[in-house]
Amino acid sequence: MARPLRVAVIGGGIGGLAAARALLMRGMEVTVFEQAPRLSEFGGGVVLTPNALTALRALGLEDRVLADGFESKSQVVRSWRSGRVIVRNSFASYRSMFGATSCSIHRGDMQKLLAEFVPERDLRLSARCTEVIPGPRGAVARFADGSEVEADIVLGADGIHSAVRTSLFGPENPHFTGLMCWRGLVDPARLPPGLVAPEQTAWWGPHGHVVHYYVRRGELLNWVAHIETDSWTEESWSTEGDMAELLETYKHWNKQLRQIFEATERCYKWALYDRDPLKSWGRDRVTLLGDSAHAMLPYLAQGAGQSIEDACVLADVLARTPEDPDAALKQYEALRLPRTSKVQLGARERGRINHLSSPWDRFKRDARIAWRRWRGAKTALQEIAWIYGYNPQQPVVAQP
Ligand SMILES: Cc1cc2nc3c(=O)[nH]c(=O)nc-3n(C[C@H](O)[C@H](O)[C@H](O)COP(=O)(O)OP(=O)(O)OC[C@H]3O[C@@H](n4cnc5c(N)ncnc54)[C@H](O)[C@@H]3O)c2cc1C
Repeated sequence: MARPLRVAVIGGGIGGLAAARALLMRGMEVTVFEQAPRLSEFGGGVVLTPNALTALRALGLEDRVLADGFESKSQVVRSWRSGRVIVRNSFASYRSMFGATSCSIHRGDMQKLLAEFVPERDLRLSARCTEVIPGPRGAVARFADGSEVEADIVLGADGIHSAVRTSLFGPENPHFTGLMCWRGLVDPARLPPGLVAPEQTAWWGPHGHVVHYYVRRGELLNWVAHIETDSWTEESWSTEGDMAELLETYKHWNKQLRQIFEATERCYKWALYDRDPLKSWGRDRVTLLGDSAHAMLPYLAQGAGQSIEDACVLADVLARTPEDPDAALKQYEALRLPRTSKVQLGARERGRINHLSSPWDRFKRDARIAWRRWRGAKTALQEIAWIYGYNPQQPVVAQP
């Protein structure tokens, strides 16, 4: 019997750990190399749409994620100042149309949960990859401490500033989108009772939008506030923001939002940079997965979901053709790259729609949404079916 494939996964974020889980389930030998000295508690909430939960089901983790996250009953979009409901979608209709619901989870909780399924000896911390060397029968990963690891396949799951991607394709030039975000987590006990309904909520306004939803079984409320700006900030998850600047920026927005911001002890800010889809994800025995392959704007809530889908598809193709990993890697890219590129571009377009500045354009947008709702909830959701209806075990566009 041929020996199992050895895969070195660079990066122990959601994508890397999901890949480890998927590959281990298929009997492969996996080692994850994570630069941080411990898995970080850092970060806020991530939304998992039905396609992400379908992918997690394939990894046997859907129920655990629903138990550790927060399952809202619906998603609502409100107008920035009045709070008027622009559209509300029940997640019961998601289940019937897409076969799964949507939930939100703290990034740290998700990372911890996924790490439970990687044996301790296969998760190497404080291992910062500096370079990869692809070869026709295997690949080598080099680390900051001077060590090297050789594997049949090296998978770059090392996020938006991927060293593996740089090693393959050289340094990139992301462009600043003119958008930045603040993010915070609030203990709901600090808010007036009943102020924030248990719904995934978005507030669309001129030049910006705000989203909030509960995570950690409702023990924390996560919010993210997006705004168009000329000021240039870092593309980092850990730069602390100034509460006074945040409150000044949103001073004309709905009072409820300002109450949420005022109850927040600490906020973080980061600038949004955009990347064009890559033409290829790898060379020889090295490939990419998650944000390293397809970093995207957050407007379709697909960052985590797309990386989990990648993990399922990669493990499937490698398990189907273990004797020919080169063909499997090509198939992985052929199955995943067109879809993730479309999601990257779709997220770009969604930003434009969310932030319309002219009242007339906003009126036309809201009227269009109302018209589609009037024709039926199913028709209204049809537009997003190509994302939400995807099943990584049948990786073609699912028809609802
Ligand atoms: C600290 C942090 C906080 C985040 N907070 C949020 C948030 O609040 N909301 C949200 O929606 N998304 C957040 N994200 C992004 C979100 O997790 C990802 O978009 C999504 O989950 C896709 O995951 P990924 O595994 O491809 O990348 P990531 O989640 O970015 O994971 C990449 C991992 O690779 C590691 N790494 C990077 N470079 C190297 C290297 N050279 N060698 C070894 N390891 C390396 C990183 O430490 C990280 O653990 C955050 C990401 C990070 C890293």
